[in-house]
Amino acid sequence: MPETKVKKTEDFNEWYNEIVELADLCDKRYPIKGMNVWRPYGWKLMTYVDGLIREEMEKTNHQEVYFPLLIPESFFKKEEEHIQGFGKEVYWITHAGLNTLEERWLLRPTSETAMYPIFSLWIRSHTDLPLKIFQIVNTFRYETKQTRAFIRVREIHFFEAHTCHVDFEDAERQIQEDKEIAERLFKRLCLPFIFNRRPEWDKFAGAYYTISIDVLMPSGRTLQMGSIHQYRDNFAKPYEITYEAEDGKHKHCYQTTYGMSERILGALIGVHGDNKGLILPPEVAPNQVVITPIIFKGKETLVNDACEKLCEQLKKEHLRTFVDMREITPGNKYYEWELKGVPLRVEIGPKDLEKKQIVIVRRDTGEKLFIPVESAIPTIRQTLEKISQHLATQAKKLLDSNIHRVHTLDEGKEKQGIIEFPWCRTKECALEIENLLEGNTLGEPIEKDDCNATCPVCGKPAQTWMRFAKSY
Ligand SMILES: [Zn+2]
Repeated sequence: MPETKVKKTEDFNEWYNEIVELADLCDKRYPIKGMNVWRPYGWKLMTYVDGLIREEMEKTNHQEVYFPLLIPESFFKKEEEHIQGFGKEVYWITHAGLNTLEERWLLRPTSETAMYPIFSLWIRSHTDLPLKIFQIVNTFRYETKQTRAFIRVREIHFFEAHTCHVDFEDAERQIQEDKEIAERLFKRLCLPFIFNRRPEWDKFAGAYYTISIDVLMPSGRTLQMGSIHQYRDNFAKPYEITYEAEDGKHKHCYQTTYGMSERILGALIGVHGDNKGLILPPEVAPNQVVITPIIFKGKETLVNDACEKLCEQLKKEHLRTFVDMREITPGNKYYEWELKGVPLRVEIGPKDLEKKQIVIVRRDTGEKLFIPVESAIPTIRQTLEKISQHLATQAKKLLDSNIHRVHTLDEGKEKQGIIEFPWCRTKECALEIENLLEGNTLGEPIEKDDCNATCPVCGKPAQTWMRFAKSY
């Protein structure tokens, strides 16, 4: 069977760039850098990922909203740090038709500044809280670094949840819920990840603290798939989001946000794929099962009918199934569906019908099984579950074998992936380590993890472990 031109195992970044187009996820020929066209297969995959996110939002009582794309400059300017953080990345609208606008508008880079002036009108009393909303929209950031499909783009497919609470403790409970959402969501995507509390100098602009959700790609670089932010009352003050408490006093709300993007697709492609193409987790694969008739002269109707019948049965079981009736060779069909990462392939030919069996082939292991027709449905279901488990196990192995805890700079220099150093909590020492590794400060583990070692840069007692990695 032919494989991709570039092998994942030899040049991951090139393989990635090739596969996103070969597998019909996107078209990079649009003339604005970082604004790619989503092709039907890629968009379908994204909608299944979004579907899982919407399910989680529903379960946790978040309500979906839609706020305008354009933000007036006066809204944007209210929170000092936020403007500093995003100032260099926003696109401005200065003209409408032939007129120069009196006040400039910007394309949302994220929606705090569009939503919060409106929240201040919506929230009156403690009975309006907590307010929990989300939207899945496109946001825009002027990216100057090298762009990469789904990983570094200028038009972002963005999920953002925003919540308002009576106090810090209730906002902290929200952060806890957000972490649980991440655990459930990424389990279904077979993507193990780590939470990192970002360092002070690299948190979200305006946040009190930021927790990132990072996955390790096979290149040894980390990819941030999402982030969770505690704002405290940092935005509520400038945007005057207040409520009347039970005692009649007016207080500022405490806020959190949760952001994720199509980087999740980037992680799915990178972590699970192989030299033959994508391997999609069954939960989000646009086609979970593809049935290929193996046609022999005179047996066409018999074989096609058997394929259609099985397809109908699987659809009734809510398995996304499709019969590939195209007049091309089975070999070409296998090549295409392997490239597109369909988890399970079924083959039915005249000999199989005589033996009352079907052939199933797993995309993840290539394993071929002959199974009796009468047990086809439960076996297919179980096999899809096994594929999910196998993808998750493989991905966990990749992550675990690439996290290294070290005590000296020399030790760290030798390692690839995520490197944990004892750290004294000063920016200078972290930057020194960044320079040495040519990487970034990823963040501290959020779980309690005592560190009784010394900072390898200054020799002072360490206060925590700090993770470093090269990142996308
Ligand atoms: Zn130090």
